[in-house]
Amino acid sequence: MTGTPTTYATMPTRTPMRSPDSYWLATGPAWARGGSALPERAGVCVLGAGVMGSTLAYWLTRAGLRPLVIERNPAPAMGSSGRNAGRLIQGGNAQHAVAVDRYGHAEALAIYRATLVNRDLVREVTEREGIAASRFPTAKLDLAVEEDEALELKRTAEALRADGIEATWLDLPGAREAFGTDLPDTVLGGLYRPDQDAVHSVAYVRGMAEAAARGGADFACGVTVASVEPYGTDGGWLVTTDAGTVIADQVVVALNAWTPRLLPELAPVITPVRGQLVQTAPVPFRIPQWGLDRGLMYGGQTPDGSLLIGGLRNTVPGRDEGIEVPEGSNTPDFAPDLAERLAEALPTLLPEAAGVPVVRAWSGVMAFTPDRCPLVGAWPGAEGLWVMAAFNGHGMPYAQVMPEQLAERIRGGRGSGIPAAFDPARFL
Ligand SMILES: Cc1cc2nc3c(=O)[nH]c(=O)nc-3n(C[C@H](O)[C@H](O)[C@H](O)COP(=O)(O)OP(=O)(O)OC[C@H]3O[C@@H](n4cnc5c(N)ncnc54)[C@H](O)[C@@H]3O)c2cc1C
Repeated sequence: MTGTPTTYATMPTRTPMRSPDSYWLATGPAWARGGSALPERAGVCVLGAGVMGSTLAYWLTRAGLRPLVIERNPAPAMGSSGRNAGRLIQGGNAQHAVAVDRYGHAEALAIYRATLVNRDLVREVTEREGIAASRFPTAKLDLAVEEDEALELKRTAEALRADGIEATWLDLPGAREAFGTDLPDTVLGGLYRPDQDAVHSVAYVRGMAEAAARGGADFACGVTVASVEPYGTDGGWLVTTDAGTVIADQVVVALNAWTPRLLPELAPVITPVRGQLVQTAPVPFRIPQWGLDRGLMYGGQTPDGSLLIGGLRNTVPGRDEGIEVPEGSNTPDFAPDLAERLAEALPTLLPEAAGVPVVRAWSGVMAFTPDRCPLVGAWPGAEGLWVMAAFNGHGMPYAQVMPEQLAERIRGGRGSGIPAAFDPARFL
């Protein structure tokens, strides 16, 4: 991993460059296990060792199974799960009031409740597995600068409270207090939700993978899957890789934006979207996780006090959606001008951050669906084939509960904590 952080001033501003390692990859624990040789047969074969695949492997081992995880990289968490902002924001992709309008109250509440179960599982599992240090407490403050967004956030505060969930609309003075540092006068206020979590993304995911391996999961890292096809006439799947083939009773495709490479039917459904983050040097104040302009700009803070700022894709419409990820790469090409815009926008929102240097910037890929809900469940009409992908830039709030519930379905249970809105069959 890198020693000295990349200095922002030394980054080329015009030519595309590969994103440097994220803060998490640069400061996270190494993966100490060597890659397992591929067995000829496996009960359950999980494709991808991001947060979803690694955590699914963990829950399968808790049920007494010994899954095989196949990962292209030499270690877990080198895709998007090691390149995100580490924020576990409760609730779905849309604000609760918008989700109620969109999916109806029962389904919107099922989605929100799933993320509360997720919160509890993250706390319980990190304690049990000795990775409590990878998690840290925070709050969430969604800021509004436009009247219509302020109304939406006020409506959300009311809708959440009506459902028994703590949430408050704060006018600017209250928002400033909750933010812990100054905010510009253009901010009208914000929706405040306490009791949230953030994680050191790489320490957390590798901790989950390590716990799965201790429980009996095999991690075949450095192995790329080329195809998954039905095998024989008695059920089962033939997984073909660059290191040989495996016959598996059940296969779970947890490949984020790479999923359509194995399941081409999902190419019209999953849009790869570039996300970027910049990181400052540590600041002497602590702020909650925040979002602005309906999440088009967002941020958080690392345990050492560095600020993370992401978003602003909307400033060049259409450029980052449908982006190519070069073959063999973990991320789309890095866009230095986007990093520059994020760095410039920072002191506009956080006046006290003026002059704080940006020390690192990186990119990653997200997988978006037309309805902004992920794909979690059985592949219709194909017994033993499952998908868990396309978390629309918002995977962490589901990254325990969906794997835990999918593991239950794989074992023949109901897995009723997976909202109906996530069923892959809706597109197939
Ligand atoms: C800049 C950025 C910021 C983000 N911030 C947040 C945030 O703060 N909070 C949040 O909830 N979400 C955030 N996200 C989204 C979050 O990172 C994802 O939802 C989550 O990581 C998805 O996990 P995953 O396991 O599905 O994907 P990944 O971590 O990408 O895992 C997929 C794995 O599949 C492997 N793979 C791909 N193809 C093959 C193959 N053919 N054979 C074998 N292995 C293969 C990859 O190497 C990878 O390890 C952010 C994303 C980005 C890019």
